[in-house]
Amino acid sequence: MGLIEDELLEVKKLCEHIVPNTKLISCVPTMVRTEIKKTNFKNIVICAQFPKEYPHSPLLIELKSKTLSDKLLLALTNVCERELKTKLGKPQILHTIKFVEKFIEENPLTCCYDEINNLKKILTKQDQLKLKQKTSSLILKVYNEEYYWICKITVPNDYPCKPIDILNVETNFTPTFHRHMVAQAKEIARRCVEPPLKKKPKDPPFQPSPSLEKTALFLIDCIKRLPTEKCQFCKEICFHKNPKLLEHDEKSPKYVERVYCGHLFHQGCLLAYMKQPPFGNKTCSKCGNKIHHFKWNLTDKMAEAQWAHEQARERELQEVTDFFK
Ligand SMILES: [Zn+2]
Ligand SMILES: [Zn+2]
Repeated sequence: MGLIEDELLEVKKLCEHIVPNTKLISCVPTMVRTEIKKTNFKNIVICAQFPKEYPHSPLLIELKSKTLSDKLLLALTNVCERELKTKLGKPQILHTIKFVEKFIEENPLTCCYDEINNLKKILTKQDQLKLKQKTSSLILKVYNEEYYWICKITVPNDYPCKPIDILNVETNFTPTFHRHMVAQAKEIARRCVEPPLKKKPKDPPFQPSPSLEKTALFLIDCIKRLPTEKCQFCKEICFHKNPKLLEHDEKSPKYVERVYCGHLFHQGCLLAYMKQPPFGNKTCSKCGNKIHHFKWNLTDKMAEAQWAHEQARERELQEVTDFFK
């Protein structure tokens, strides 16, 4: 029997037993196809063909996947080809399958290869997106002048069916913004994987979608945008240039608040704006959306009544002071 036939017999006998998560689809002299399936998403088919001078020239390899990034497959093919050049003269099929399986096992972040590359493109030199393959997580560090945001983002094994998570936040924004950004980022991630409660009849069936890029983009946008945003009432920049001088007392009029649309007000400015007429249609001057804020939970009617009450009291007081004139 020839060398290739011997190798094919060995592959048939051993492959699925010694390389985890593999399935031999075909194993004939014209083509060996093996599927590596760690999850529905981490799924690769290796197609290998024997060149004329085999085993003195490397196997011809093609990697296919319906889910993983094409760019990743291309890069991994190049790595395989380099690896096989060190195995010339020896059987290469099992080695290739083991090599690819090990790569997928040791690099769990392969499932967000394109997302990570897209994020790296928008980060500045100061910022950082560090990959931690061992723990299937990333460290995101974003800076804007003196302001910073550092967090860990974990990518679960069954990504993208399960969402990413955000942990270990370090930041010098106020706790209000820290809390809001984490909650909103987690909500964005959740919406990627959970169907909406109210489904529109024309919507296609819900499919979970990758949550890493969307979530990280939201956080990066907050850090890059907030420190330059103005108060929608007094038009001054809300976040002090020096974070050490940023107001941390939640009761102070200079404390920075965000209203429902996401735009900023000093707390004192928001209260002043909400307490003055006209009532009924308080909108954000930047985006025109109605203003909602949990600290201002009076309805318009109540605000108007309160305004009228204060006006009446002032009139009474005026009458009293006039009387003594
Ligand atoms: Zn203001
Ligand atoms: Zn707004």
